[in-house]
Amino acid sequence: MSVLQELTAGIENQMREVWRHLHRNPELSMKEYHTADYIEELLRESVTDGRIKRVGKTGIWVELAGKAPAAGTETIFALRGDMDALPIQEENDLPYKSAVPGVMHACGHDVHTAALLGAVKVLQHYLDRIPGKLWFFFQPGEETLSGALTFLEDPDIDFGKLSGIAGVHVAGDLDAGKVRLKEGPVLASADLIKIRVTGQDGHAAYPHNTRDPIVAAAHLIVELQTLVSREVNPLDSAVLSLGLIRGGTKDNIIARDVYIEGTLRTLDKEVRTSLQDSIRRVSRGVALALRVSIDVEIENGALPLINDSGMVKIAVNGLEKTFGAGNVVFAKYPRMGGEDFSYFTDKVPGVFIFIGAKTQGGKSVIGHTVEFYTDPQSVKSGILAFCSFALEAFGIDP
Ligand SMILES: [Zn+2]
Ligand SMILES: [Zn+2]
Repeated sequence: MSVLQELTAGIENQMREVWRHLHRNPELSMKEYHTADYIEELLRESVTDGRIKRVGKTGIWVELAGKAPAAGTETIFALRGDMDALPIQEENDLPYKSAVPGVMHACGHDVHTAALLGAVKVLQHYLDRIPGKLWFFFQPGEETLSGALTFLEDPDIDFGKLSGIAGVHVAGDLDAGKVRLKEGPVLASADLIKIRVTGQDGHAAYPHNTRDPIVAAAHLIVELQTLVSREVNPLDSAVLSLGLIRGGTKDNIIARDVYIEGTLRTLDKEVRTSLQDSIRRVSRGVALALRVSIDVEIENGALPLINDSGMVKIAVNGLEKTFGAGNVVFAKYPRMGGEDFSYFTDKVPGVFIFIGAKTQGGKSVIGHTVEFYTDPQSVKSGILAFCSFALEAFGIDP
């Protein structure tokens, strides 16, 4: 057993308790008041030599300074864990089931928070050997894609000083005890598309006196579905799904307007920009052709999350030492889900590591569902993943 494994084993039960407490008391995005107070209190108890600072209302930034002599410019690596839960009613029958009606840690951020706290505790033991600094971001509001920005906007945090950043996320389809990662694109950008088609309402028997927004919406939807198939390089990836359409009141009334919402996902910033432009262009064209007006509003969500090859190399070396090479799995494909960790990787070389959360032999679970479940072992895996990366980044044997 390595020193890292021993130190982690020593706090595992305590961190599982923290995780269960968080799971029982979930809070929605940017409202993690109790969570932040609870974690800050635990940090103040255990951080003897370091800085703890609130970021926004519910974020926490911890800095640990290594004591080993540094060569050249200061090296800083950051570790990030998110803390928010989702508006979902938990249906699991667990002793630590959510006690908050309609709110549930259904994405495993309770695990990430407990693991990051564990990493603070463990890494303190290595400060004598660390020739630089470690930053820990306890981040709120990932699910609303607003929490990472509170860190990026904090005037005290200079992202230009960071050499690298690592984040972890539980994976409900990967056995506990394993980790998974890949180089390059990992997760997609996720933009919200809002479209309003406005025509001229009237009697359905006299369509010539109206401008029918339902027919225009139908054309628009079909045209938009050609964008991914006809304008995106087949070797790139993109999804445009329109998940909501609403318009009209009665069979014999031509509607006044139709409202459409959808999500645009890409793995590349240029593909994203060009598709956003194309959505606007096609909308203008359909509006002109069918005598309606079409307003398009695009709310930019997460960016494509791209793992830096240098950071992946560090992570893989570190993870293989601790988890064993057979437990480090390489993903073949990215996924089209979104993550606001991408705001960090856009600024700093980063790596996003998936930690197995499925009980061995159990069934896969899907995030954002009423029955999402994480194996208790995933807390330890999270601590080990964070620490493996940080130690390897500073060339320290675990
Ligand atoms: Zn989520
Ligand atoms: Zn998540």
